[in-house]
Amino acid sequence: MDTPKTVTERKDDIQFLMKYAVPEEQVDMAEALLEKFDSDIIALNLLHSFYVHLPEGKDDSVKILRLLTRSQGVFLLCVSTGNGLHYLYLANNEAAHIIGTLAEGIVDRQLLDFFGYENNKEVLALTEKPEKLQEYEPYTPDSNLCPSCHASVGEFHTLGCPVEICPWCSGQLTYCNCRFTRLDIDALNKVAQIEKLLELLEADGRIAFKKEHSPGYLSDNLSDDDE
Ligand SMILES: [Zn+2]
Ligand SMILES: [Zn+2]
Repeated sequence: MDTPKTVTERKDDIQFLMKYAVPEEQVDMAEALLEKFDSDIIALNLLHSFYVHLPEGKDDSVKILRLLTRSQGVFLLCVSTGNGLHYLYLANNEAAHIIGTLAEGIVDRQLLDFFGYENNKEVLALTEKPEKLQEYEPYTPDSNLCPSCHASVGEFHTLGCPVEICPWCSGQLTYCNCRFTRLDIDALNKVAQIEKLLELLEADGRIAFKKEHSPGYLSDNLSDDDE
């Protein structure tokens, strides 16, 4: 995984890569798409992945992004290109990866299970007419998604998400000391410790994402009374 980048750094990198990748007649369209998504880290990670490794190794551009589904902050997206090709990509707030062409669908069993598809046939039935898939829209505070890890309302955050609330002290799980006191350790850096933490969190009622947990939600939506 790449280290997470800020949206501005990602956008700058993409603009640089686009100079070499986008055919001249597709430049305006490709730039308009980048502008549309310039504050959406999911789309920016996807664009970065596309322009770093052009799927066919030939000049091309991203024309339309469509959303098949998403789960726990991982988005399954269809990328349609200026050259008229279609691909499937996975993206989260850290990175994006190509799965393959849209026509191949998903063969990986784990990936099918992750998104709740019974088999590749189900995926291919959805992608047969890509123009019928919903267009992917940039993140807004009304998106019902965690602004940091992009989990949906009711889903658990990616462990380590700064928006996750601690079930023990109701503070921010990544900032309070509960993870150390509960595990009786000074530093949390081993996989086994993280697994143990997850076990304890789940046993004591891990707190799923709610819109009210978004930073800024209270000040924007409530004038008095705090939670
Ligand atoms: Zn989150
Ligand atoms: Zn705590």
